[in-house]
Amino acid sequence: MRGLMMDSALTITSIMRHADSQHSGREILSVTHDNARHRYTYGDAFRRARQLASALSGLGLDSFDRVATLAWNDHRHFELYYAISCAGYVCHTVNPRLFAEQIVFIVNHAEDRCLFLDPMFVPLIEDIIDRVKGVEHFVVLSDRKHMPETSIPGALCYEELLDSGEADFEWPDLDENAASSLCYTSGTTGNPKGVLYSHRSNVLHSYASALPDTMSLSASDCVLPVVPMFHANAWGLNYSVPMVGAKFVLPGPMAADPATLVELLENEQVSIAAGVPTVWLGLLQHLENEGRTLSSLNRTLVGGAACPLSIMDEFREKHGVDTYHAWGMTETSPLGTVCAPKDGFENLGHDEQQHVRAKQGRPPYGVELKVVNDGGELQPTDGKAFGALKVRGSWIADAYYKLDESDAFDEHGWFDTGDVATIDNDGYMQITDRTKDVIKSGGEWISSIELENVAVAHPDVTEAAVIGVPHEKWTERPVLIVVPAADADLSRDTVLEFMDGKVAKWWMPDDVVFVEEIPHTATGKVSKLRLREQFHDYQLPA
Ligand code: ADP
Repeated sequence: MRGLMMDSALTITSIMRHADSQHSGREILSVTHDNARHRYTYGDAFRRARQLASALSGLGLDSFDRVATLAWNDHRHFELYYAISCAGYVCHTVNPRLFAEQIVFIVNHAEDRCLFLDPMFVPLIEDIIDRVKGVEHFVVLSDRKHMPETSIPGALCYEELLDSGEADFEWPDLDENAASSLCYTSGTTGNPKGVLYSHRSNVLHSYASALPDTMSLSASDCVLPVVPMFHANAWGLNYSVPMVGAKFVLPGPMAADPATLVELLENEQVSIAAGVPTVWLGLLQHLENEGRTLSSLNRTLVGGAACPLSIMDEFREKHGVDTYHAWGMTETSPLGTVCAPKDGFENLGHDEQQHVRAKQGRPPYGVELKVVNDGGELQPTDGKAFGALKVRGSWIADAYYKLDESDAFDEHGWFDTGDVATIDNDGYMQITDRTKDVIKSGGEWISSIELENVAVAHPDVTEAAVIGVPHEKWTERPVLIVVPAADADLSRDTVLEFMDGKVAKWWMPDDVVFVEEIPHTATGKVSKLRLREQFHDYQLPA
C-alpha cells in the first residue's frame, strides 16, 4: 500500500523557492574585485539567477550540459549555483588552485561547454585555452567597467549577459534524482575523479547539515563560509544557509586574508564560520598580534584536515567560540560526521572532554559508517581498533562520473573512503590516517595524524607532518617534519622530550627534521606525496 502523501520533488529549485518566499529580504554581503562590500538580498539574488538562467538557455545549451565555474565565494558565484542547476544544467565547480594540467583534464573530461571565471583567473585560462577546445563560451564575472583586457576570443561580460536574460524565465520541473552539480576530487594520486551530485542528494544533505548536532543553522544566524564554493560545495552552505534564511557573508578573493576576515566577522556580526584548520591558524595568529578578540562568533566548523586541539582551546578560551570538528570529502557531499557532544559530555573531566573533541565525530541520520580490517571484517567499536573507513547514505557517491570501474565502491553499496579510522562505543569516529599515509612499523600501524597533533601542541611548532621512511628491521619508521615558529629555539631533543609520554614509546619519531615550509595540496592540506618525494633520499640516523 502506498502512503497517501504528496510527492514534492526534492530539488534545489525548491530550496530557492522557499528561501525566496520566506527569507527574501535577508541580506547577502559579498566581496568582489569590483565592489569591496556588495550588499543585496536573497530576493535580488534569485531574481538575477532567473535572468541568468534565461541568458544561459539563449547560449544554446542542452539539458544537463556542464557549465563550469572558476571563482571565489561571492554573490555571482552564488547566483550561478542556482541559475545553472535549476535551469537543468550541471554546475561544475573547478578548483583554480589545481595545476593547469589538472584543470585542462577536468574541463575536458566534464565536456564543459561554458566557463564562468573571475577576472583574476583570466591569465590562467589564456594559458590553457588551446587545450580546452570544447568550451564555447567564456564569461568573465565582472561588470563592463571592470572587464580585464583579454585575448580570450569572444569573452563575455557577466553583467551584460545577465541583463540580456528575461526576468520571467520559467524554471523547469526537474526530477529530484537529476544531476545538479559536479566536483572533481583533487586527485593526489592519479587523475581527478568526478563526483556528480543530484538535486535530491543536495537537498537531503542541506536538511541534515542544518540540524542542531551538525551545523546548527537557523534564521537568526549569520554565516561566513571561508571554505571555497569550488571545494566540496562550500560544505553545502550555499543551499543550507538560504534554506534556513540565515544572513550570508561571502569573502570573495579575500578569504585568505585574516585582516579582512576579522573585519567581516566583526562588522557583519557573523555567528558561524566554516573553514579548514590553516585558515583558523592564520586568523588566530592575526588576532593575537593585534591584541583583539571576537565579539559575535559562536561557532566555527573545522574540517578538511584534523583540527589540532590547540586551535579549539584558543577559540574557546580567548574568544568564547565553540569549535565543531567535522569530517567529510568530495564524495560525501561532503558532510560525513560532526563532533557534537552527547548527553553526559559536560560531566566529563577536562582530559576526557579533550579526548572526545579531538575526534571527527558522529554521522547524522542519513550516513552510515563502518570500520573494517584488511579481510573486510567489521572491527570492534572500542575506539582503538583501526581499519578502513567505509560509508554509505543518501548523499554519498555511488560511482565516479564517466569511470566504469572503481575499487572504492563495493557490491554491498559501501564506499571506501581511503581513510583509516576507529569508532568508539558512543559512535564517535576518529580518523587516524589516510590509507596511503599510515606508517606500518613491525606489522603494526602508527597514526601519522596523532603524532602531528601532539607535535603541533608545542608552542614553538607552527606546522608538523609525519611520514614513514623505509627501515630494514621495522619496514617503516616515522619521521617528524617541523616548521618552527619564527625566532624559536627548537632542537630535535626538545621536541622529542615534549612528545615523550604523550604517545606510545614505539610510536615516537626516529628523527625530527626542521624545514622552512611544508608543501600543501590545492585544497590547502599537507601534501604527504610531495613530502615523501622531497625526503626520497633521506637516511634515518644510525
Ligand atoms: P581531496 O583533498 O582529496 O581533494 P577532499 O577534500 O574530499 O579531497 O578530502 C577528503 C579527505 O580529507 C578525507 O578523506 C580525509 O582524509 C581528510 N579529512 C577531511 N576532514 C578531516 C578531518 N576533520 N580530520 C582529518 N582528516 C580529514
